[in-house]
Amino acid sequence: MDSSTSSPLAALADASLLKTQALINGEWVSGKTTFAVSDPATGAHLADVANLGEQETEAAIAAANKAWIGWRTKTAKERGAILLRWQQLLMKHADDLARIMTAEQGKPLAEAKGEVVYGASFIDWFAEEAKRVYGETIPTTDNNKRYLVIKQSMGVCAAITPWNFPLAMITRKVAPALAAGCTVIIKPAEATPLTALAVAELAQRAGMPAGVLNVLTADAEASIAVGKVICDSDVVRHLSFTGSTEVGRILMRQCAPTVKKLSLELGGNAPFIVFDDADLDSAVEGAMVSKYRNAGQTCVCANRIYVQAGVYDAFVEKLAAKVATLKVGNGFDAGVNVGPLIEEAALVKVETHVADALALGARLLAGGKRAEGLGGTQFFEATLLADATPQMLCSREETFGPVAPVFKFKTEDEVVALATQQHPRALGHGVGDVGFHLGHGGGVDQRALLHAVLQAIADLEAGHRGAELVGKGLVNLLMHIDAVGADAGLAGIAELGNDRAFDSGVQVGVFKHDEGGIAAQLQRKLLDGGRRLRIQQAANLGGAGEAELAHDRVAR
Ligand code: NAP
Repeated sequence: MDSSTSSPLAALADASLLKTQALINGEWVSGKTTFAVSDPATGAHLADVANLGEQETEAAIAAANKAWIGWRTKTAKERGAILLRWQQLLMKHADDLARIMTAEQGKPLAEAKGEVVYGASFIDWFAEEAKRVYGETIPTTDNNKRYLVIKQSMGVCAAITPWNFPLAMITRKVAPALAAGCTVIIKPAEATPLTALAVAELAQRAGMPAGVLNVLTADAEASIAVGKVICDSDVVRHLSFTGSTEVGRILMRQCAPTVKKLSLELGGNAPFIVFDDADLDSAVEGAMVSKYRNAGQTCVCANRIYVQAGVYDAFVEKLAAKVATLKVGNGFDAGVNVGPLIEEAALVKVETHVADALALGARLLAGGKRAEGLGGTQFFEATLLADATPQMLCSREETFGPVAPVFKFKTEDEVVALATQQHPRALGHGVGDVGFHLGHGGGVDQRALLHAVLQAIADLEAGHRGAELVGKGLVNLLMHIDAVGADAGLAGIAELGNDRAFDSGVQVGVFKHDEGGIAAQLQRKLLDGGRRLRIQQAANLGGAGEAELAHDRVAR
């Protein structure tokens, strides 16, 4: 079927996957108002969705908290069985889920199907992993004591997700939380609630108990109120957010009063580096995938392509030839590689970056303007700019569109400096993309560059969390080199985010064996929902002197 048919959602094999109400406590609920969801490829109206506010958010939090008791006391195997049924249902309905996703988000249907498979993979991975949430024993400084670490579910977790990966960003956050025994509240983006609701419907069919998984749909204005209630809540113990850096800062501020555990995955500005000894065909292939997937609307997109002088002309020529083959259009149409952008504001940003680069001397080798005659107003041509410079906006801001600026460099030291200079603390995804490229560019001494980049991070952060950041960079780098999926941690750095998106479920406490029954009491309190327990003498473990048990490891 192609985009000439009336509504893409009319062709769903299972029309009951199209939900427009929110899900609270196992019931589909309407809001006082609705908001419209439209197809970015055509502008056509797709559905009116429940617009929720503060009151419904409070209700969802209360429902999730109530459901926690029953959910956490199931064994990991019992929870895993429900999660595995959910994963199987996602796979069974992959075509319909992809159709809903392409309709509201715009990405080509094949990419949407890929996201369903990718998103589902988090569920079965964590369903299995929850059986292996082991504790630890820690050597002590006193032979009269024993330190034991046990892991417990922490309670209600919230997930605020973006529109660019409307399914995978949800499953990646909630699967580990659910598997560990937490209950969840999901707030999807205004532009893409239909995918989230279909995923929630399948969770219901899989036998997820009422209140364990809740979805609060809201438009952009109502999302602010929903987010405030979530952040202010003492009951919500963890917030996992993926989205813009600006909103991440707001949420971080709002979560400070409740000292909520936060996982932030924020905006990117990833460099993609090609050295003289790279396999150019392989490097071009890697750049194409990294840059133009999802019309350039991914956080790990190569935002800046740095090419060494010896292969610069050849690389640019090969890349231009490939970019010329890209087909822009409606994601439902056969052969389309680049769909529409999500909204008018996104096109304006892309136009601004292109105009700025051209004014500052970039050479336009492909695209450069809105694509006309494709049945909608939100298409932008696949664009290639050569001779980009650090002065250009595209060098320091996330473009989030199908524009590839190519920069020339001479030495390894120079490119490491260039890749990091615009945003020295925001290296998480930058490091990742270096790794991604190295994985595809034979002939490069991977270890040498790995060392150089990690050393650069360490230098930048010297005396300030240096070792820790190197460690996180390594996680990211390895993830991209190995191109692994659910089994890899995604750790951002500084303003790119903090922490993994999916370690949201576990809870750690420290107990001393010589306090006659205290450990058992603490454990009982944890299981009963007691959260604010003071841990004495934790300082000699190198951790916080006092810990809220719902907050991170005190023993590390
Ligand atoms: P966004 O504007 O920050 O929105 C993300 C989510 O936050 C949406 O659900 C949005 O709801 C909600 N939101 C906005 N303001 C809020 C507030 N004050 N309180 C509570 N919730 C609020 O980001 P986006 O435009 O959707 O996503 C694109 C950005 O995400 C890019 O910068 C991209 O790099 C980043 N991203 C990062 C990663 C990563 O792994 N680091 C992955 C994917 C995307 P509404 O839609 O209703 O406004």
